[in-house]
Parts: sequence; C-alpha cells; structure tokens
Amino acid sequence: MTIDQIIHKVQENNPKADIALLEKAYEFAARAHGSQKRRTGAPYIQHSLHTAFVLAQIKADLSTIMAGILHDVPEDTEYTLDDISKNFGGEVAALVEGITKLSKIKYRGVERYRENLRKMFLAMAQDIRVILIKFCDRLHNLRTLDVLPEEKRRRIAQETMEIYAPIAGLLGIWRLKWQMEDICFKYLYPEEYKKLEYKYEVEKKTERNQYTQRVKNILSQRLNEEGIAYNIEDRLKPLYSIYKKMQKKDRKFDEIYDVFAVRIIVPTVSDCYKTMGIVHSLWKPKSDRIKDYIAVPKPNGYRSLHTTVYGPENKPTEFQIRTREMHEESLYGIAAHWYYKHKGGSDYKNQPKWIQEILNIQRQTENTNDFINKVKLDVFQDRIFVFSPKGDVFDLPEDATPIDFAYLVHTEVGNKATGALVNDRMSSLDRPLKNGDLVEIVTEKNRKGPNTDWLEFAKTNRAKEKIRQATKSSRFEQFKRIIPGMKK
Ligand code: MN
Repeated sequence: MTIDQIIHKVQENNPKADIALLEKAYEFAARAHGSQKRRTGAPYIQHSLHTAFVLAQIKADLSTIMAGILHDVPEDTEYTLDDISKNFGGEVAALVEGITKLSKIKYRGVERYRENLRKMFLAMAQDIRVILIKFCDRLHNLRTLDVLPEEKRRRIAQETMEIYAPIAGLLGIWRLKWQMEDICFKYLYPEEYKKLEYKYEVEKKTERNQYTQRVKNILSQRLNEEGIAYNIEDRLKPLYSIYKKMQKKDRKFDEIYDVFAVRIIVPTVSDCYKTMGIVHSLWKPKSDRIKDYIAVPKPNGYRSLHTTVYGPENKPTEFQIRTREMHEESLYGIAAHWYYKHKGGSDYKNQPKWIQEILNIQRQTENTNDFINKVKLDVFQDRIFVFSPKGDVFDLPEDATPIDFAYLVHTEVGNKATGALVNDRMSSLDRPLKNGDLVEIVTEKNRKGPNTDWLEFAKTNRAKEKIRQATKSSRFEQFKRIIPGMKK
C-alpha cells in the first residue's frame, strides 16, 4: 500500500481535496513510526496506510483519513497528541485522541464486554468518525491475524463478532460488517467455513454464473427497449450470512443456496419502479416477497426495491433494484449518507435521526446495563451472546434456550442437563435466553439422556441433532411420540 493509492482514491470521490495535507500526514506518521515493524514483519506504516485506504473506500472525509494515517502515533511513538494538534489542528487531533482512548479497553468477561460496548457508544456520541477509524483499524488487524497465537486470534475474532460487527450493521456500513464477519467466521468456525467456502465459491460457481448470465440476457433486451440505462450484478452473499441463515432457519445449504440473487442499478427512482414492472412482467413474483423500501425505508435508512420471482427454469431469484446512490449508501451507511448530502465536504454534525436517538438514550441513562438493554434491541437483531461462568462467550440465535447453550458447551452437558442457572437464578431449560445472560447448566450424573420434548424448544441444529441421536436408540421414546401420555 502506498500513499499514492490513497490519494488516488480520495481524488476519485473528491477532486478538490487538499492532497498536500494527506502527504504531510503520511510523512509525519512515517517519521514517527520510523523503523517499527508489525508482527508480520511489515513496516508499521503499512498498517496506518491500510487503515486510511479503507476509510477512503467508504468515502470518509479528509480529516478522518488523515486521522486514520496518524491513529497509532500517540500510543506507539514518542510523538504526542499535542504534536498532532500543532501540525494538523484540533479536529484531526480530537479524532486521534478518540481512537487512543478506545484502544485502552481490554476485553475480559461479561463486565468488560458491557463496558466495552458502552465506550464504543460514548465515542460514537462524541464523534461517529472515531468508530469508522476503529472499524478500519480492526479490519486490517483481522487481515493479519495469522501471525498471532491461536488464543489471541480467537479472542480478537470473538470480540469483533460481538461488538464491532453489530455496530457496523447498526450504522449501515454493511460492507465492513460482512468483511469483518467473514474473516472472524473463518477463525471461529474453521471447518464450517471451509465447507461453505468450497460449496459456494467452487462447486456452485459455474452454475451461478451461467444462470445469472441467462437472467442478464433476458433482462437487458427489455431494459434496452425501454431506454433504461442499467447495471446488472450477480450478488455474492457473505459466507457468514449464509451460515447464519442455515442455523436460524434450520435448513441445509442447498435450500438456502437455491435462491439466486441479482442486483440491478438504474439512474432514477422512477427507473427503479419501471424495472420492477419489467421483472414482474417476465417472471411471476412471490406476492409476499415484494418489498418497497424506497417508499418506506428501513429504520436505518436503507432504501431499495426487493422482489423474489420464479425466474428461468422456475428457479427462485431475488432482485434488488436501486439507484447508485442507494447502493453506495447500503454499502457504506452513514459515511456515504454524508457524502451524498454534502458532495465531498461532509457535515458530520448533521446526523441521521436514528443516531440522534441512540445519543439521547445515552444521555438519559446513567446505568450501563440499562443503556445496553435499550440500545441492543436495535443492534443485535438476530444473534445473542451469552457467557459461561468462566467468562467464555457463546454466540447463539435469538430465542435460543439453555438447552442450546448446553449442547454448544459439550454433548454430555446437554445429555445430562436437568436445569439451568441464568444470572444465578434457577431457570427451566426451555426459557429463552437474553443477550448478556450468564448461563450455568445444572447436570445430573445418573441422568439417562435427553427428553424428546426438548426438540420443541431447542433452536439450534446442533442441539436438535444431538437430542435426536441420543434418543433414537430408545424405542420407548419413539412410541411415546406416537402415543402421547403413554406410561412405561
Ligand atoms: Mn492500529
């Protein structure tokens, strides 16, 4: 990575940007880090440049990119925040200060987790750009995780899944969220990752390409006739999102995979509606899958038309239809939102309303737990994180129960479970867990095995499979399913 690549990217978004400032920041950081090396053996300044480059990709403003180049200077070199302030002014210095404060949080167990989240939101309250820099810094650290010892690797990946990725989603920066999640997925669930990667990116690739090409050919003709300029893309789905769907809906890869995904980008809003009309005239839509997020955007500002149709060969095909601006906003979230509002000169004070709401919650709540509880409703939509007494973190689908947790810990813990302690209180095995719960499973050594009733409230595939396996051999259990109430 070179400073020229960053300059090039910045100029693409904003031809009038003051490039001299970027060069100055680069020279300053390069001098400060001197001969320091990363664990990978690369010069330290490479990390600073990679961080800044991703910031330029998501269209962050110039001060943010400069702060990205300088973000590790006060912490890791003999130059201070004062030096940065003198050379680059108060705005850049304040951003670097925000990052330096955030990096002091270390992750240990449940309390630290909550405190961590709170600090992230506090930093967001002061200046949301600090979080953008932190994301890009983290992304580069993830990309170089290989050099770290196994335990540290897992810890960083886990922390990213719990804290960084959900917040990136909340801010609508999907591109960063997906990139972070896929890397963490690889480290946290290496086998599942490898299997999915092979199926999706090797086995199915040709089939996908051929199918998309067919859809494109048919559509292009009609769009040309209507005089609509368009861009049709095959949508690659992030692997972790496929994995989550498989877990949540209890379905096999092929069922999830069988939905093809195509994106059409057109110039104007009225082109979006015309294009949807064309798609529906070519293929029969599933009526319950037509979504107009242009007329009614999602709470996080997301806009697009969605529809699922029975495409060529009657294959279910998802379409997203949107303008270029909507598309970039969907990838870069708030960063692009400001960019389009103020063409190059971002105005970070003019925040979307929903961020203001988070900040209001933050101002009104003293207590960390209350704050987290109020915010997490939005942040953690479909995953929860619970803790073992030792402070290990377990990632579960929403509405998971102690029995799911038990089988995640160990098959034997599941098979011998009789009850659970949730936040130190006795709980039945079927009561849904909540984010941040501390869970301990009560076991009984002499217990023969699981109960088939558990299948009714187990949410994860893993728990269901283990319960089925353990009960399959018991003929009595099979009869019991046919004749409820049968006594031994
Ligand atoms: Mn860093």
